[in-house]
Amino acid sequence: MNYEQLLKDMSSEKEVIWLNPDKLPFEEAKPNLELTMADIEDAEKRLARFAPFIMRCFPETKKDQGIIESDLVDIPKMKEKINEKYDSKLSGRLLLKKDSHLAIAGSVKARGGIYEVLKHTEDLAIENGLIKETDNYEKLADHREFFEQYTVQVGSTGNLGMSIGIMSAAIGYKVIVHMSADAKQWKKDLLRSRGVTVMEYESDYSKAVEEGRRLSDENPKSYFVDDENSRNLFLGYAVAAKRLIGQLEKLQVAVDANHPLFVYIPCGVGGAPGGVSFGLKQVFGDNVHCFFVEPTQAPCMAVGMITGKHNAISVQDIGLTGLTDADGLAVGRPSGFVGGVMKTLLSGEFTIRDANLYHYMRDLLETEEIFLEPSACASFQGPIRLMQSSYAKDEGLEEKMADATHIAWATGGSLVPEEIREEYKKTYLD
Ligand SMILES: *Cc1c(COP(=O)(O)O)cnc(C)c1O
Repeated sequence: MNYEQLLKDMSSEKEVIWLNPDKLPFEEAKPNLELTMADIEDAEKRLARFAPFIMRCFPETKKDQGIIESDLVDIPKMKEKINEKYDSKLSGRLLLKKDSHLAIAGSVKARGGIYEVLKHTEDLAIENGLIKETDNYEKLADHREFFEQYTVQVGSTGNLGMSIGIMSAAIGYKVIVHMSADAKQWKKDLLRSRGVTVMEYESDYSKAVEEGRRLSDENPKSYFVDDENSRNLFLGYAVAAKRLIGQLEKLQVAVDANHPLFVYIPCGVGGAPGGVSFGLKQVFGDNVHCFFVEPTQAPCMAVGMITGKHNAISVQDIGLTGLTDADGLAVGRPSGFVGGVMKTLLSGEFTIRDANLYHYMRDLLETEEIFLEPSACASFQGPIRLMQSSYAKDEGLEEKMADATHIAWATGGSLVPEEIREEYKKTYLD
């Protein structure tokens, strides 16, 4: 592939497909990864220790015993629709992973964000003798006055702030969320209603993160959640993969050399799609094919990976604005950490114009009666465009595509207020 031409197309806001030439067979990639399956298992156990505490603070999680997990569902009518309307030529099964409906935060950030706050809480509580690992963590709910001495801060385009903000406030922390210009008003309002301090910036996400980090560093009792570099966030996302094993079995989906699994995840700074994909590769190895999707105006991870410059290049450097309606994906500079991990694991990337986010949103509503926020609808660009690429042929999978499964990872939506949904339904109606 000619990368100069590809970058030129990206600069002129074309929707592109990029297949990663550096992907390696998983067994070759694995020894060079800094994190392992054992790290994911450690995170999974930590979440289990906190389950009684989560149930107590958020009674809506009782039906799942305090485990925050989303459904995996078949969306056959959506598959039919995209094949008719966009000529996607998709065979096999199309599933939706409904992180849009995760408890507490209504987005994929309920994985990484909440996990990181809990990890920090456990560290503080053990250090200060409030609990031992073998205790029932429910009693941490009786120590609000202890946690009130501490502050948690984070930079966010919206959803990460919501997950960190809601969980931190429930534990008792003072919380400051530094919101970029892209953040939606209703997300700021919701956080303020929970007692969270929201600082607003006229600038983009990177600036909000920088300011948040600076202010947090000035306060020895403040903890900064670093979306660009945090291994904890990343591992919180990765736990999703282990839980997917049982969900796939329940739907009688085989994943093996003859039954490939394709997963499409919207990407902002990279932590969520990177963490989930890292986990999936650990679990399914070469039988899973992970793709990211980014807006044509903010394809930061693609630009970083194509050029090999990772966080040393921004979308502004190739003449883009970074502005998009997909607030969760409005990031101009990717995580260098995630780009490094994904270098040998990622199958490729698709980019998507804003108008298509809304078209796919309406398609899903019409066919399956499921609402997703525009950012999350980017995931459908994967199944719609995959067969227009040479990927199946390059990987020797052409004969197996009839037995493939495709998962569109729905990253957010259930907390979007009704009046905003109505607005979205009328956006780009042409
Ligand atoms: C944050 C977010 C993403 C992407 O996650 P990153 O960690 O920023 O890459 C995707 N979709 C939604 C709805 C999000 O909120």
